[in-house]
Amino acid sequence: MAERMRPLSYRQPLVDGESTGSFVTRLAARHGQSAARLLATLGEGHSAAGVDPWESELYVNRAARRRLAEMTGRPLDQLMRALVSLRDEHLLPDAPDIPVWKWPWRPHAGFLVRGCALCAARRGVLDPVWLIRPDPWHICVRHGRFHDTSRSDRVPFIDLSPGPHVIQAERRRLRLVGAGPVGRLLVADAFGVLAHEAVHLPRLGNGRTTPLRLLPMAIRVASRMAFLEQRRLEHRLRPDEHQRWREQVAKDLGWQLGMVLATWSQRHPPLRRPRTARPQQRWHLRLAAPHKDVPEMASVDKLTCVPWEVLARGPRPYG
Ligand SMILES: [Zn+2]
Repeated sequence: MAERMRPLSYRQPLVDGESTGSFVTRLAARHGQSAARLLATLGEGHSAAGVDPWESELYVNRAARRRLAEMTGRPLDQLMRALVSLRDEHLLPDAPDIPVWKWPWRPHAGFLVRGCALCAARRGVLDPVWLIRPDPWHICVRHGRFHDTSRSDRVPFIDLSPGPHVIQAERRRLRLVGAGPVGRLLVADAFGVLAHEAVHLPRLGNGRTTPLRLLPMAIRVASRMAFLEQRRLEHRLRPDEHQRWREQVAKDLGWQLGMVLATWSQRHPPLRRPRTARPQQRWHLRLAAPHKDVPEMASVDKLTCVPWEVLARGPRPYG
């Protein structure tokens, strides 16, 4: 059994959603060390030469996670709530009792997105903070700021005060996504629907602000989908309702979107009644085909069931 680590002298505040690499870099800086030196005391590992917290994520195994908690002088569950990559599904394979870490060139999944400086400052953190996120963008609804993977200090965020409808859409997205995995899939499918060429909207990855442009419409589409999907997953959707829904969305959202939503709804057909119908809590409905699982760090283009390209071809500068 590895011996217990002595906690470091200063407690470092936690920021929700921060990447482990970003946190460890701050922790080291606070103690006048390089991240490499701090990691050498954490366990065995390797890092791609010169990797930075805005480039990639730091991963640990179970033993190194325990040591990191000891170093920070915090309970492990507190650390895991804030630092997503410390959760079980992102751990490195276990070497019994040997603490191991790895800082690869690219994150295993997800994107490093700049954290909101005002949110960090509220916690007493003045250093830059990088979050690990499933998508390459993040909106702070508290401060109305849009952040992405851009490293530029010249325009570190986009101020959303001229677009309150975007913040409102983001609040609705958070409600959908926070209600369970089905909500996250619907948001992904809504972005997928908007990417169809018949809709004539820019695809994600087309420009820095494309997610902002698409979000309000994506949320409108997702809430229409939610009505159908909830009934379907509760095994209450009748074929005639399925048809009526298609006619109604075409009427309300236009024929182009109506056509694409009809294609989407064919992939979400009415389910046969289960043998034992069990009451299920709203949104904690069990997923059904075509969707199987919802990995924590899967981006909208990975989650959606639509068969066409969701991302613009070519390099993806942002989003
Ligand atoms: Zn903020």
